Amino acid sequence: MNTPRLLTRPLVRSLHPYVPGEQPKIKGLIKLNTNENPYPPSPRVLAAVKAAVDGRLRLYPNPSADGLREKLARLHGCRPDNLVVGNGSDELLALATRAFVEPRIVERGMRSASRSVVQYLTPSYSLYPVLAALHGAASNAVPFNPDFSLPSLPELKRERVWDFRAALTFITTPNAPGGRGYRTDELEALCRRMKGVVVLDEAYVDFAREHALRLALEHPHVLVSRTFSKAYSLCFQRIGYFVGHPELIEALHKIRDSYNVNGLGQIAAEATLEDLPYYRRNFKAILATREETSARLGGLGFQVLPSETNFILARPPRFSAEQWLEKLRARQILVRWFSAPEVRNDLRITIGTPAEMERLLRAAAAILGAKR
Ligand SMILES: *Cc1c(COP(=O)(O)O)cnc(C)c1O
Repeated sequence: MNTPRLLTRPLVRSLHPYVPGEQPKIKGLIKLNTNENPYPPSPRVLAAVKAAVDGRLRLYPNPSADGLREKLARLHGCRPDNLVVGNGSDELLALATRAFVEPRIVERGMRSASRSVVQYLTPSYSLYPVLAALHGAASNAVPFNPDFSLPSLPELKRERVWDFRAALTFITTPNAPGGRGYRTDELEALCRRMKGVVVLDEAYVDFAREHALRLALEHPHVLVSRTFSKAYSLCFQRIGYFVGHPELIEALHKIRDSYNVNGLGQIAAEATLEDLPYYRRNFKAILATREETSARLGGLGFQVLPSETNFILARPPRFSAEQWLEKLRARQILVRWFSAPEVRNDLRITIGTPAEMERLLRAAAAILGAKR
């Protein structure tokens, strides 16, 4: 028999997997590293989940989350066949790669290599390149402008790096980790030029000024990705969904697992939609905290980018961002640092409760005040 190493496909052996933010179990830790919502789910959501925990756990859940899709269809003014629900939106991003992109292995017989291209702007969600690599597809990573604005169409054309025929293009809007939001009309202008599928990843859109949902209903090649994780305090339950043309949606239904969405997650998400005012109050609180934290960090010498999300990207003074990560950690505050060259001088800080931000600001002031 071969060694276990050789039993694994070479592609998988050499894969650099996605690295999620840590979830350490440290008491008293202030966790500002994975953009979780600092507020709990609505009491009605907790009650609905608790009421569902009994002998019925032995049964399979609804295989296509029909109840949830009907409620989402009502919310978004579309039909259930415009919707597919996933085990978090991450699952759907992976399914999109498998449904719309040819692995490179068949490239030779194809008219155009674009059929094997997964395209995205950098820096953005670092899962996209992993999905491309895992599928055996090519990645086309095109840099944002330095201020995280979208390159203009003439710029994209002139640079000749953007592939208007890419099989699948991911656009994170608002952007992560930059936090910048994009206008629907500029996204639409870009989408209009694209020949392949475009996924607008709106994981943070509830904290933004605009959303682009109508593009998924008006353009047959555009999908909008949403999640209950960040804005709806439901990371634990893993619920995300795509909105789009029924034929693209049908392709994703075809290749997903039959029971891809767990039952308690479906119940929690449905109950969430019954109490949206509770969440809108939280969005408002998070936005207010975000603006105040940004201003006060600015006062301490941090350069903070304007954000339309529940996190900020901040360039710290005096010490390197990596040193700040350690210094804050020593004070029980966990933020996120990425080693990618465009953002290695920055910290990504999730907006927590006002009390948590107060602790962050005090820690930052103490670090700056510390002699040495
Ligand atoms: C968090 C996040 C997701 C994934 O969310 P899940 O629904 O929890 O899988 C997708 N895209 C971006 C940009 C994110 O930040």
